[in-house]
Amino acid sequence: MGLRLRQARECSRGSMTHVFHRQLKAAMPVAAKGDGPYIVDTEGKKYIDASGGAAVSCLGHSHPRVIQAIKDQVDQIAFAHTGFFTSEPAEQLADHLVSRAPGQINHVYFVSGGSEAVEASLKLARQYFLEKGEGQRSLFIARRQSYHGNTLGALSVGGNEWRRTPFAPMLIDAEHVSPCYGYRDRQPDESDEAYGLRVADELESRLKEVGPEKVIAFVAEPVVGATAGALAPVPGYFKRIREICDKNGILLILDEVMCGMGRTGTLFACEQDGVAPDLLATAKGLGAGYMPIGAMMCTSEIYDTIRNGSGFFQHGHTYMGHPTACAAALAVQRAIEEDDLLANVRTMGDKLDAALHDRLGNHANIGDIRGRGLFRGIELVADRVSKEPLDPGLKIDGLIKREAMERGLICYPGGGTIDGKQGNHVLLAPPFIINETHVAEITEKL
Ligand code: PLP
Repeated sequence: MGLRLRQARECSRGSMTHVFHRQLKAAMPVAAKGDGPYIVDTEGKKYIDASGGAAVSCLGHSHPRVIQAIKDQVDQIAFAHTGFFTSEPAEQLADHLVSRAPGQINHVYFVSGGSEAVEASLKLARQYFLEKGEGQRSLFIARRQSYHGNTLGALSVGGNEWRRTPFAPMLIDAEHVSPCYGYRDRQPDESDEAYGLRVADELESRLKEVGPEKVIAFVAEPVVGATAGALAPVPGYFKRIREICDKNGILLILDEVMCGMGRTGTLFACEQDGVAPDLLATAKGLGAGYMPIGAMMCTSEIYDTIRNGSGFFQHGHTYMGHPTACAAALAVQRAIEEDDLLANVRTMGDKLDAALHDRLGNHANIGDIRGRGLFRGIELVADRVSKEPLDPGLKIDGLIKREAMERGLICYPGGGTIDGKQGNHVLLAPPFIINETHVAEITEKL
């Protein structure tokens, strides 16, 4: 046995590792090879990656054109610092994104991941108002079921109490209102439309209470991922949110880090709600995991205010606009278009939804199956009538993850806080390249 393989096996048994993993007590298999929607470990075990890790690997794990694009770029130049140079892949990727972006989105700021994209959005929004002479604005309003990243600004706007609590004294100013969570909050006699308006109006009430002149922006995921399990809004909700933001002079930041870049069947998730934000954060599916990359996108109004003012965004990272990451992301985005993968996301998304309802819809502990495109969530409950969350003592997400991996399935269990209790769901976000056989395999193993 070669030294590397032996070390890997020892490491997988948890007996020897210098890597500071997320989980300090659990051992993990060692990923050795990617094969379309599958990951193979060093023991030769094959897993179908039905969640793309955390909704990342939207082209699977061995896309030849993306791999070639990375090799070609590295052959030319791997990295050039953006304090000195721009690069062709960054320019081309920005053109590609802007020409397809909603509303007045016209500029793209490349970073290395989702938290950085959200962090940059928060800071740019604040600097925009500063340069307009409105430096009294320092508050963000976001939603209770939300995850926007783990850096301190992004963590502040996120609503996940478990993640926030240890760092509470270090967080920036943020308030949280209700998300659009029809399964739990819509009254029996209320239409979807009426519910959407009612819950959106919570933002307006909160703005009145705190004073809109103190607020920078409202931050939301169009389809909530990690804290609620592919929770899509009812029709009209985001239109009303957009109206409230405009009426009160605050910005709308949409976090499409997880739900964007085709995951829900349109390139940008907010297209389906007929709204455009002032700032949009994206990552995960942008580079599909072939390279770490995220992006903050903004309108000309914001860009021009700073260009005509200080002329400098007071932010930046060493690896922003990394040429190899941009080349990979450009190849990913071209593959999505050239292979008409958004159509496959919609078709396979419908098939996955139907298969999940068929196989799991009557399960006593499954309260809701929902989502858009290839972004599907299964909410787990103790009781389907009361919708009471499962007993947190069960530690169900760890259990599901382990059992699923045992069966060769990667899914993404998680949860946010529901009425002070831990909620539970399983998130599915398989690659856009899957076919009906993969849908059957995922559903069967789940
Ligand atoms: N925003 C959303 C909606 C996310 O789902 C995530 C990650 O799961 C992030 C931000 C943070 O992204 P990253 O983990 O790349 O920093």
